[in-house]
Amino acid sequence: MIIAIDGPSGAGKSTVAKAVARELDFSCLDTGAMYRAIAWQAIQDGVPFDDDAALGELARTHDIAFGHVAGDPVPRRVSIGGADVTDAIRTAEIDRAVSPVSAAPSVRAALVEQQQRIGRAGDYVVEGRDIGTTVFPESPVKVFLTASAEERAHRRVRQNVDRGVGSIDYDEVLTDIRRRDDQDSSRATSPLRPADDAVRMDSTGRYIEEVIDDIVALAREKGVVSGTEGTCK
Ligand code: C5P
Repeated sequence: MIIAIDGPSGAGKSTVAKAVARELDFSCLDTGAMYRAIAWQAIQDGVPFDDDAALGELARTHDIAFGHVAGDPVPRRVSIGGADVTDAIRTAEIDRAVSPVSAAPSVRAALVEQQQRIGRAGDYVVEGRDIGTTVFPESPVKVFLTASAEERAHRRVRQNVDRGVGSIDYDEVLTDIRRRDDQDSSRATSPLRPADDAVRMDSTGRYIEEVIDDIVALAREKGVVSGTEGTCK
């Protein structure tokens, strides 16, 4: 069973996905981290961001894995090809690189296939941009989560301060968010857009707990029962 949460950068998807997963005993999958890991690897290997074939090859040949920190059920570590890139994929450099890399059709084909394989193995809350439209269009619960660009920039700055990584300059973060919104919405393959049957939620000015409660209620309304895994893998 899949709960799909899509939306633009900084709308609160990660926080919401983890909380909903904990509430329903589902696992969770952060697909943005997978695109970020490929962007990181492309930079390491000097692969140009417009070389679709080389980027696709890279995505097909490098394993992306999620790991736990002791005592925490939510995955905190991300690795690619065995290298831990948890912090390295949250830098301003990756923020800039990830949209062009994720627009490459062969990267998307490779990662969508991996995401479908992971998701079909259990009960997952999956967050991204194209989960309801492309990766799991059959999902019974689809949420498209938005917030104003300004509020998303404020949240992203706070998150970067907490993580100790990424830009903490509000104007820089706001510019990046607007640029990524634009690029993610206008690309040819799987652009960011709500699925026709997605429930749209705007988190501007709302407590994130209210949004979490709304999604859990929606899932129960749609007949989703708690899973059996109990952790975010
Ligand atoms: O969610 P996050 O901001 O970490 O995603 C980083 C980038 O990865 C997005 O700006 C987008 O370009 C790409 N992405 C995507 N499809 C997804 C998830 C993320 O294209 N399902």
